[in-house]
Amino acid sequence: MALADFPRYPLLFGPSPVHPLDRLTAHLGGARIWAKREDCNSGLAHGGNKTRKLEYIVPDVLASGADTLVSIGGYQSNHTRQVAAVAAKLGLRARLVQEKWVEWPDAVNDKVGNILLSRIMGADVRLDPAGFDIGIRESWEQAMEDVRASGGTPYGIPAGASEHELGGLGFANWAEEVARQEEQLGVFFDAIVVCAVTGSTQAGMIAGFAGQERSRRVIGIDASAAVDRTREQVGRIARHTAGLIGLGRELRDDEITVLDGWAGDRYGVPVRSTLEAIRLCGELEGMIIDPVYEGKSMAGLIDLIGGGELDGASNVLYAHLGGQPALNAYAGAFS
Ligand code: PLP
Repeated sequence: MALADFPRYPLLFGPSPVHPLDRLTAHLGGARIWAKREDCNSGLAHGGNKTRKLEYIVPDVLASGADTLVSIGGYQSNHTRQVAAVAAKLGLRARLVQEKWVEWPDAVNDKVGNILLSRIMGADVRLDPAGFDIGIRESWEQAMEDVRASGGTPYGIPAGASEHELGGLGFANWAEEVARQEEQLGVFFDAIVVCAVTGSTQAGMIAGFAGQERSRRVIGIDASAAVDRTREQVGRIARHTAGLIGLGRELRDDEITVLDGWAGDRYGVPVRSTLEAIRLCGELEGMIIDPVYEGKSMAGLIDLIGGGELDGASNVLYAHLGGQPALNAYAGAFS
């Protein structure tokens, strides 16, 4: 099978915008930096990377006859907010397990930003005291049982839609979209820099780009502070997705790059380099990034350019995966 053989339910405006970040490029002095903007890819509650993944999962949801999407994430999960939006769009219910993934002192952490948007969209939001984990959780399985017990038909979407059979397809499609945009723009992105936590965003990209004629680097920046787990998950999902879309060869280990060094000690807690990256992008480009994910991957990009590790590259593409609503829960970091 090829990617085009998988049904896709359109949730995006179309191809997400790609544009140069020229003031950031001039400031850092190195390869020309561009951004591809998943933060404004859809009209569904600010969109983001999960909306793209869900395009390939929704046909399976509809075929299953489910009436309730069941998913899980932290209090400020972008993923659960996007599941809530897609449920609203499809006329389904959403049952969301929101775990305490982050010890963050802002008093409004469980009230504003993503969780607020999910509540506005009518999701059944339940707080759970469990800590950070990207794996399959008992509380998520229990939530599905609860839906069944009350007469509903659940459809489970794991954290980040990553441990889902079809979770990597959305970003394999992104890789094809990039190739078409490169043709239109007359550029080639030698390296892609992308944030990685539950893994299927980077994994899908790796699988998608691996089938293209010209090779390039897909550099994951870990934001989980548990890089071994993330690396294992990215590799596993990339290989699975490559098989699904008929790559026709095994992915090599050197095609799976997840770097650590910018996550700090804990998922969800910004460190100095995160906050500096957020301010720099805001001040130079008017581009807003968040303290949990994109601030960390941007800090990685800044250091890779500064350290000369991207010296061979002419054009570098930063995948902006969304996530700005969480900023509201981190006001204390900027006051
Ligand atoms: N960036 C944002 C804004 C996210 O919401 C996520 C979700 O986890 C990521 C990056 C990481 O993507 P993935 O979980 O597919 O590795």
